[in-house]
Amino acid sequence: MEVVASSQGRVLVANTLVASTLWHRLMALTPPRNLMSSIQQEIVDFFWSGRHWVRAAALYLPLAEGGQGLISIQSKIASFRLRTVSRLLYDCGPSWLNFGKLLLRSVGRFGHKQLFLLNPEELDLSGLTPFYTSVLQAWHTFKFTRATSEMPGMWVFEEPLFFNGLLRARTLQSASLRTSLRQAGCTKVGHLMKAKAKSLEALRRRSNTSSIRILDQVVKEVCAALPESRRAFAEDADLCEQWIEDGDYSFPSLQVTPVVGDWHEGAGQLLTLRTPHLGTFQACGKKETYNLCVTEFLGPDSSPKGCWRCLYKLPVEKRTADLRWRIVHGAIATNRYRAHLDLELGEGCIFCSEVETLEHLFIQCPRLSALFILLKSWFQGLGEEFSFVLFIFGPKYSVKKKGVHTLLNFLSGAAKIWLTRRSRLQGVGSVALLPVLQGLLRARLRVEHTYYHLMDNIQAFSHMGAVGGDGELRLYI
Ligand SMILES: [Zn+2]
Repeated sequence: MEVVASSQGRVLVANTLVASTLWHRLMALTPPRNLMSSIQQEIVDFFWSGRHWVRAAALYLPLAEGGQGLISIQSKIASFRLRTVSRLLYDCGPSWLNFGKLLLRSVGRFGHKQLFLLNPEELDLSGLTPFYTSVLQAWHTFKFTRATSEMPGMWVFEEPLFFNGLLRARTLQSASLRTSLRQAGCTKVGHLMKAKAKSLEALRRRSNTSSIRILDQVVKEVCAALPESRRAFAEDADLCEQWIEDGDYSFPSLQVTPVVGDWHEGAGQLLTLRTPHLGTFQACGKKETYNLCVTEFLGPDSSPKGCWRCLYKLPVEKRTADLRWRIVHGAIATNRYRAHLDLELGEGCIFCSEVETLEHLFIQCPRLSALFILLKSWFQGLGEEFSFVLFIFGPKYSVKKKGVHTLLNFLSGAAKIWLTRRSRLQGVGSVALLPVLQGLLRARLRVEHTYYHLMDNIQAFSHMGAVGGDGELRLYI
């Protein structure tokens, strides 16, 4: 017996059986890139059973965003690395991370946390293990911004003086001055402010700087560059006195977003940069971090249109939803497409012999007009204007209109355009769209009615709406 799993069935198999055996290894190892891409290729092949219709990237999106939720190894690895960053910055990691902290400190020369605030182009990662290099690389794939509303804390004294996006000081652009200060052990705001409180002259001597005026200027510029609330904090001599180097100070909150370059969001898309909505980096859960990585690696041209939340909502069957997903992604083997692969096949529609494109198949073929007239009247009965966009992409989901949207979606899915085409090809089953649709709805309602009758809850059934035997839709929502 041949077992044909639905798309979601195959995703489940791939994600749980194939990929999960990799995860515990990938958490701490950096695998060769080409090995990972060939495993990913195997997974995608398995999903498509060897025939690829759409860019794989779209498959990795969660269902709610138009994908299939197929696992993306690259995103998974990146999300593991980001979790490591989060543990390093917010001190919630296992003890083996202590080794990593030492290693990162030796590279950054500021401290392990400071390394994550520096501009990537200024970093010299030589001397880091492949694992920690991949941690920093994953980090720099994203854009982080400081949370502006946060109250200043002792961390302000831990801020690195150089290559720090927050502190732009003109004098510190001089490489020789930076080297001098570094040699004198003055690399953080705290070092500078302590020197200012005690004696800038001592710092001048230690750093071999020619004049004290330059150091004065550095202090001024650094203070001016700090946001106002942090500046007052940094200039407070008592607080500065309390600061001890590498003390246990909480790292500032960061907001992380994908780097999307010139990609402009189109209107009405469910996949936006605000989905998933991310709070601060440390509050980001495993799933959100992973989804963030998927979005990052997706690329600009694969954001699917449409309103995906209801596509897979009950009572729509999985197979119907899978089919509609394929339609929207152009992943249907129309005759036009098949004719490219096999010249013996014609590209004409089997009903009207016009060229069978995707649009023809699902919208333009004359055999569909009666169906659309019926759907139009049903949609109207539900208070919605029928349109092809609504029919193909599904309604934009809103909780308020949940009942109506679920029904619209169900009705669109029940129009068995693809099924009747297959019946015609194979010469079995009915090819008449309207009787198939009406029969299907009637059967469905009979099942539902029996179910609710048995459950002694006929009230719930009457809330769902009903289709009369004459094809009229009567709704009690
Ligand atoms: Zn046709």
